[in-house]
Formats: sequence, structure tokens, C-alpha cells
Amino acid sequence: MKKLIIGNWKMNPKSETEALAIVEKIKKALIPIVGIDLILCPPAVYLDRLYEEVRLTSIKLGAQNAHERNSGAFTGEISIPMIKKWVRYVILGHSERREIYKEDDKTINKKVINALIHNVSPILCVGETIKEMRMGDNEVIIKQLREDLKLVSPKDMEKMIFAYEPIWAIGKERGADPQYANQQIGLMRQAIASFYNRDLAIRARILYGGSVNASTVKDYLDQPEVNGVLVGGSSVVAAEFIQICKIAMGK
Ligand code: PEP
Repeated sequence: MKKLIIGNWKMNPKSETEALAIVEKIKKALIPIVGIDLILCPPAVYLDRLYEEVRLTSIKLGAQNAHERNSGAFTGEISIPMIKKWVRYVILGHSERREIYKEDDKTINKKVINALIHNVSPILCVGETIKEMRMGDNEVIIKQLREDLKLVSPKDMEKMIFAYEPIWAIGKERGADPQYANQQIGLMRQAIASFYNRDLAIRARILYGGSVNASTVKDYLDQPEVNGVLVGGSSVVAAEFIQICKIAMGK
């Protein structure tokens, strides 16, 4: 299985010109992209223009969120049908959505189902708080998975991507210990096996996310359970992200 590298740009950069410059640099430095799959998740307002930039490359685009309904009185929201001509993926259940915007698992589950209906692959994020980590409470990530995947069929599971993103490791100087990330992702895989079957669990793409940078990416990718990385802050710094991708490509 190819390693998957996803860049979550969050609410960055401040202008379309800067967004274009990042993609230009990535294209120039990395194409042809061999040995990895690469997905960029910029703010939705840049998708149209960036789609033109990556259309003829193997770089794919994802959204950072989408509403669970297709249209309606939901001021400020964006729906899957509005963005699906540009994206094949959508990040759902990111801890910033869960914490800041109080999205619960019931809502995240509706978003997952609606994305799948439109053939857009959810990149489903789960992770525990620092308190839960200190208490050794692993049930929390299993519970998130169980609730977020309610009514997702085995067939639709083939489209899912997962990210283990411990909340305490996001946007920090250092991420989680790679062995710890490996162990938690192993637990997620076991949970998927128990909800579905072993074969689906083995094939599930489960990434680590949380303060990954060019000096730590290899340690995560070397872990047997880790199928790739979801990169936040370092993904909008073109030189750093290019280095992360090169390391993942074995260059
Ligand atoms: C993220 O936002 O998904 C993330 C992992 O952020 P960072 O890499 O900045 O910790």
C-alpha cells in the first residue's frame, strides 16, 4: 500500500496568490510523484482555482469540512454537492471541529454518510484528549469510530480514510511518540475488524496526525500500523511540506 500524505491547510494562507504559490512549488519539486499518494486540503474558497492547477497531476484535493445536508437554511455552511466537482475527499471529525464548533459524533456520522452518498471519501479523524490519554482511556477513540461509522456499509468502508489525531499532539512542538501512535492505530484497526472484518481492517488506510514535520515524518512512516500522515501546520510551509513528501517518497 502506498503511503498517503495529506496536507490540512486549515484557515491558511491568507490569499489565493499565496495558495497558488504553495502548489506551484510543490508541483515543481515533486512531480512526477512516485510511491506516495498526495492530497491537499485547502480552504474551500481556493478549491476552484487550485483544481485547475492540479487537474493534470496526481495531486488530489480534499475539503476540510462539509455540512451533512445538501442545501438549506444553514448560514455560512458549504455542502458536498457544492464542492464535489473539485474534491474526492473531505476531512470530517477534525478535533478543531469537535472542540471549537462542538460537532458531536451523531453529526459527524451524518456527514460521513452524506459524503459517501456523493462518492466523496471521508478522511475521518478521531483522537483523545490529554486527560483521556493520561488515564489510559482508549475506549474514547473506539467509541468515536463506532458512532461515526454507524450505518456505513462494508462496501463504503473501502472509500474511507482514517486519521488518528491525538488532540494533545496537534499544533505542538512535538507530536506523539511514534510507538504510541502505532499502538493506538493498531487498536483502531482491531476495532474496525470487530465492527466489520479482519480483511477490511488490514486494508483500511489509517494515518497519524499531530505536529508532523520533516524531521519526524520518517519515524511515523516506519511504524508498521501507520499508513501515512496528516500534516497541519507544516503543510502550508512549502519547503517543509516538500521535504516531508520527499522523505515519504524515499528521496
Ligand atoms: C491537523 O490539523 O490535522 C494537524 C495534524 O495539525 P498539526 O500538524 O499542525 O499538528
